[in-house]
Amino acid sequence: MYSIAIHGGAGTLTRNQMTAEREQAYLSALKHSIDASTLLLMEGKSALDAVEAAVRLLEDSPLFNAGKGSVFTHTGKHEMDASIMEGAHKRAGAVATVYGIKNPISMARRVMEETEHVLLSGEGAMQFAIENNIAMESEEYFYDELRYKQWQEAVKKGSMQLDHTPLDEKKFGTVGAVALDRHGNLAAATSTGGMTNKRFGRVGDTPIIGSGTYANNKTCAISCTGSGEFFMRAVVAYDVSCLMEYKSLSLQEACDIVVHDRLLSIGGDGGLIGVDVLGNICMSFNTEGMYRAARNSEGLESFAIYKD
Ligand code: ASP
Repeated sequence: MYSIAIHGGAGTLTRNQMTAEREQAYLSALKHSIDASTLLLMEGKSALDAVEAAVRLLEDSPLFNAGKGSVFTHTGKHEMDASIMEGAHKRAGAVATVYGIKNPISMARRVMEETEHVLLSGEGAMQFAIENNIAMESEEYFYDELRYKQWQEAVKKGSMQLDHTPLDEKKFGTVGAVALDRHGNLAAATSTGGMTNKRFGRVGDTPIIGSGTYANNKTCAISCTGSGEFFMRAVVAYDVSCLMEYKSLSLQEACDIVVHDRLLSIGGDGGLIGVDVLGNICMSFNTEGMYRAARNSEGLESFAIYKD
């Protein structure tokens, strides 16, 4: 059996901002990503390959706040965070505050596979990218008119704007994927541009193993999206795994407690996707919506934006 779930962030457009055309664009971007990654799982490829492929395609879409669609920092740049983890040996790789990288998720995988480290950040990470011929793109590739306006608005207000803040007219989301492959292995991957107008050097939950991303073959694979500072304080992804491992909760029960109780109790908004070793999928969020899709070998097929 195999299962896969993907998300495009919990900072969706509100229902009254959503048009049929926009909805179609988001759903087809999700479909493109899940089609390609499902194919890999069908062929017997690893969960790690599937989550990397799914996230790469979402990073290449301008619709989501990751890779090409990354938001502007306070200094008018794009700084991206990403991480990936596999559940069999609990190997993980991550990058933080990298810029000009076309697919930060693939760079995170290279950190996992080609170094003895888990997380590379800033100039050291950029040096690694140059030495290893990681694909780069120019500033123009990351430029987006709407994202620019979002940033200008946040600068004017002197605020740090989350995707999830209902200030702006258009909101975009972090991206992620979780999968179980035919060999019984789990993997998770998450990638983001962070928050509009964030301080230069700010790192969110996305590249932090155990907060934004986690995978353990004993329990589950988790990818998060939301206000990173709260996700770090609540150690969200690992908390779901702990509730399953130490309290024998189901994936759904564990996700619901973390998203609707523990996170909310400290004021954190967002959501997560998870898959367990039996292939069960969970997609919990405490925001108005979360761009999401799921599939498994038993015929499950789900695409959604809001709580339906
Ligand atoms: N979690 C991301 C961060 O705080 C933002 C998001 O999910 O949209 O960087």
